[in-house]
Amino acid sequence: MAKQRRVMAQVAMVMNLDKCIGCHTCSVTCKQAWTNRAGTEYVWFNNVETRPGQGYPRTYEDQEKWQGGWVRTKSGRLKLRSGGRFKKLLSIFASPVQPGLDDYYEPWTYDYENLISAPLGDDFPVARPKSLVTGEDMAISASANWDDALGGVAATEAGDPILRKLREEANQQIKLEYEKSFMFFVPRICEHCLNPSCVASCPSGAIYKRAEDGIVLVDQDKCRGWRQCITGCPYKKVYFNHRTGKAEKCHFCYPRIEEGIPTVCSETCVGRLRYLGIILYDPDKVTQAALADDKDLYKAQLDLMLDPTDPEVIADARRSGIPNDWLEAAAISPVYALIKHFKVALPLHPEYRTMPMVWYIPPLSPVVDLLKEQGHDAEAGGNLFGAIDALRIPLE
Ligand code: SF4
Ligand code: SF4
Repeated sequence: MAKQRRVMAQVAMVMNLDKCIGCHTCSVTCKQAWTNRAGTEYVWFNNVETRPGQGYPRTYEDQEKWQGGWVRTKSGRLKLRSGGRFKKLLSIFASPVQPGLDDYYEPWTYDYENLISAPLGDDFPVARPKSLVTGEDMAISASANWDDALGGVAATEAGDPILRKLREEANQQIKLEYEKSFMFFVPRICEHCLNPSCVASCPSGAIYKRAEDGIVLVDQDKCRGWRQCITGCPYKKVYFNHRTGKAEKCHFCYPRIEEGIPTVCSETCVGRLRYLGIILYDPDKVTQAALADDKDLYKAQLDLMLDPTDPEVIADARRSGIPNDWLEAAAISPVYALIKHFKVALPLHPEYRTMPMVWYIPPLSPVVDLLKEQGHDAEAGGNLFGAIDALRIPLE
């Protein structure tokens, strides 16, 4: 008898980068809701970074340096880039490879009080920046989006690991001279990966992927502060709370999702660019998909996603315990449509092999406008991707 297929549900997100104006409303409302506390001053569960740019924490995409994600071994197995369980146990008391405050940034506030209480004098009173770490006056030299809208790019571009790689691949053709420059914003949260390397890195078993909706959470009672998860996550979306000594991360606003309301970042997004929905997938095929050749990883990830309107998938999902209202939601999921049906959304860094579940529609608007002006159906997938060569943002 054929083995019965298991089906699991995953809450996923698609962001349309064409619509992001880099206003940081999502970051600020998320921070107000979840990390406006002692010990998390430098932490942004949601951050918005400029590309090209070094990101937050800086250069986090340089996995040679930060050792995040998975690699495929010569014998065809998946291995954490930072080393397997045995190596981790041997080095459990050593400091893990992880960004320091310089790589994030030193958080600060302003001395607003001085604006209203400064004694009368010849000068206008100012609100000096004060470090939230030391309480002392400080000179600001970095932030969670220091490359904002290419600000200071001449000084920082050399440190962008992706730009460096693109330049090598494109034979030094990518330049940031004024007339050839390009930029866009990338809002980032935890990817709630199907094959999360943070979970596999944790010696205490404190990080887990919830069975019912795939949300990746840290059990605060079990966390022993080993910080291996911070190394393990290639997106650097686990943070260390220096007050509690425990790891924290984006939890996909699970208390809101459980009530049927969207995440704070989705609800408050000015550009209305975040789509939330449910994906159905086959959990027994995840490891195999994560082992695909580099160039086949995107397709392998697509193949994992099951058609939520297929009667056989629905029957298997019911047998696997997925409730009817979830199945109805999956069938009308905009996320499934954008990823699998229209194929306009792409995963961020599939080469990390974590099978990320926050996908992005790449910025295409100059191409769409051009096609429209020429009288074509600019929204048709074939037309759109066929014309992408004309884009100023390099295809690579
Ligand atoms: S993006 Fe999130 S789920 Fe994926 S490895 Fe990092 S912390 Fe874990
Ligand atoms: S609120 Fe929306 S438009 Fe503004 S930065 Fe965030 S994702 Fe972009």
